Amino acid sequence: MPYTVHKLNDYSEETMLRAVVQFRLALKIEWFEIEQKIVNPDLTSAARQDELKKFRDRWLSRKSGQFSQINELWLKNAPADRKKSVGHLINQLKQNDLPQIEQLIEKRGFFARQSSDAILSINRIFDDEKGRKLQQETLVTQSRMNSLLQTLESLGSEELQKIAIEEFHVDLSEALEAAAKSKDLAAERLDITLPGIRRTMGAEHPVIKTMNEIIGVFRNLGYSVEEGPEIETDYYNFEALNFPPDHPARDTQDTLFIAGQESKPLRDRLLLRTHTSPVQIRTMQKMKPPVRVVCPGKVHRNDAADATHSPIFHQVEGLAVDTNITFCDLKGTLDHAMKALFGSSVKTRFYPSFFPFTEPSADVQISCIFCDGKGTRDGAPCRNCKASGWIELLGCGMVDPNVYGFVDYDATKVSGFAFGMGVERIAILKYGVDDIQLFFQGDVRFLEQFG
Ligand SMILES: [Zn+2]
Repeated sequence: MPYTVHKLNDYSEETMLRAVVQFRLALKIEWFEIEQKIVNPDLTSAARQDELKKFRDRWLSRKSGQFSQINELWLKNAPADRKKSVGHLINQLKQNDLPQIEQLIEKRGFFARQSSDAILSINRIFDDEKGRKLQQETLVTQSRMNSLLQTLESLGSEELQKIAIEEFHVDLSEALEAAAKSKDLAAERLDITLPGIRRTMGAEHPVIKTMNEIIGVFRNLGYSVEEGPEIETDYYNFEALNFPPDHPARDTQDTLFIAGQESKPLRDRLLLRTHTSPVQIRTMQKMKPPVRVVCPGKVHRNDAADATHSPIFHQVEGLAVDTNITFCDLKGTLDHAMKALFGSSVKTRFYPSFFPFTEPSADVQISCIFCDGKGTRDGAPCRNCKASGWIELLGCGMVDPNVYGFVDYDATKVSGFAFGMGVERIAILKYGVDDIQLFFQGDVRFLEQFG
């Protein structure tokens, strides 16, 4: 029969002491047992975690835990003249134990979560002379406590008092005295001059902040927001975007593929999307023109992390398809967007480029925001634009008619443009950050500057 807190028949010193000692012995013995179970490789990780949880619930559960039960069964039934001393006694128990148990459970949770193999190797590491000695001592303590528990009924008041103080640092006479002197009142007095606990406010991450700002610009132009999955098929990420089967972007050096799919046809193979363009295809599949959407999201490339590269980054792409959309609309839209993001004095220029899904395609440059497009700053060549006065910022173009074929649009009736920009790239420019890694390291000293 496992121990449970029971009502006290009377509130004599001896009864109270015996109850306290019994409570502590039971707790301690069960904890020893739990500690052994947690590092027992014969149990599965789930079973070990379950044991730890059961122990926690049994002792600490707010409703039925043994610590709540001492309040229920000892304190509530105490006669008026004993209430204070019982309360003080319970406080001693709780102050000693509760934080310590919580802490132990958290620490041991680490072991409980390990696989049996990991436990075996941890055991091997600790299986030295010191470890064995410690284990021996634990066994001795455990058996001493077990025999104490057996003989508890036969012990007198003095012996109980001795055990309570020596083993468990609980002193009944202190409780009785305290009650008499009403020390409790003084201890419970509130010192309102103590400083409070400051709760720091969270703030938007600079990347998310920038992304929302970009989205806001296009929202004001009547664009809506579309999102799509981060794990994509080759079909949506490449094929439907007019990438030929042997396009180098499919190389594993550039793209992260999900493993073990060699038996699938190429178009069904899963990968981490390398751009948010698949969302454009998905949008056109479910929507007929006119389409005006921006697609923000996380994308992945097989790049090593350095100051300008990250295997994860964010993009906002845009797509507008309607009748009679021309390159002029594209230029006007992006020129407006860049001015909205970087200030009205910013100029844009378009350079011929190539993307499989747009024709013609262009790279967009903005006049350098650091040197106002002059190429020099304080008499020295501007570092940010390599003295050219221009900064390359995004790619765009008119949607290639081949793409419409994949989504059942009539290429003879509709036309449209698409563009895409890297969010980190824009955040770097806007906030003067010199290392893209700072966005992902979670260093609060860096992040709080944007709060
Ligand atoms: Zn410059």
